[in-house]
Amino acid sequence: MPSPIAHSATAYFLYKITPQKNRSIKLDRHHFIDLAYVIVIGNIADLDFIPHLILEGSFHRGPSHSLCIALLISLGCSLIFKWFHKSTFRRWFLLTIGIYVSHLVLDFWTAGGSGMQLLWPFTDAFIKSPIAFFPSVRHSEGLFYPGHIFFITFETIYSIVLLLFINRYQKYKRPNQNT
Ligand SMILES: [Zn+2]
Repeated sequence: MPSPIAHSATAYFLYKITPQKNRSIKLDRHHFIDLAYVIVIGNIADLDFIPHLILEGSFHRGPSHSLCIALLISLGCSLIFKWFHKSTFRRWFLLTIGIYVSHLVLDFWTAGGSGMQLLWPFTDAFIKSPIAFFPSVRHSEGLFYPGHIFFITFETIYSIVLLLFINRYQKYKRPNQNT
């Protein structure tokens, strides 16, 4: 799987290209809360590393990386955030599930590992793409493994490309904002 760098950048990208109406009415007040929410949703599937470490089982990229759990968590989080936000459920649900599914898409196209249980509970099979786009993150090598520079560089470039796209997109949209 990619690291939180790529997942967070993708979540931010989806948040920024979503029509303004999908965000808070009081955007200035809630801007940082919106950002925190989309970053958390972008990475929430990987919280399965906690039971993976505590219980020493093979939980990582298990059910939390399935479309079924993506749907359930997106429903739950959107309901909570909608209540907090006083915004419409549909708008937040679409953004939330879009970000959650983006996490699964990125993991699907990542080198290394045995895949993820994308179609759980219908099958326990681990699924991954035969072709990888993102380099693997070698967690077993520890935090200070020099080889980490490869994925950090790749994901940083990927994030910069997304940010540049957002920048161009906003410049393109700005003249039409008041129409
Ligand atoms: Zn993941």
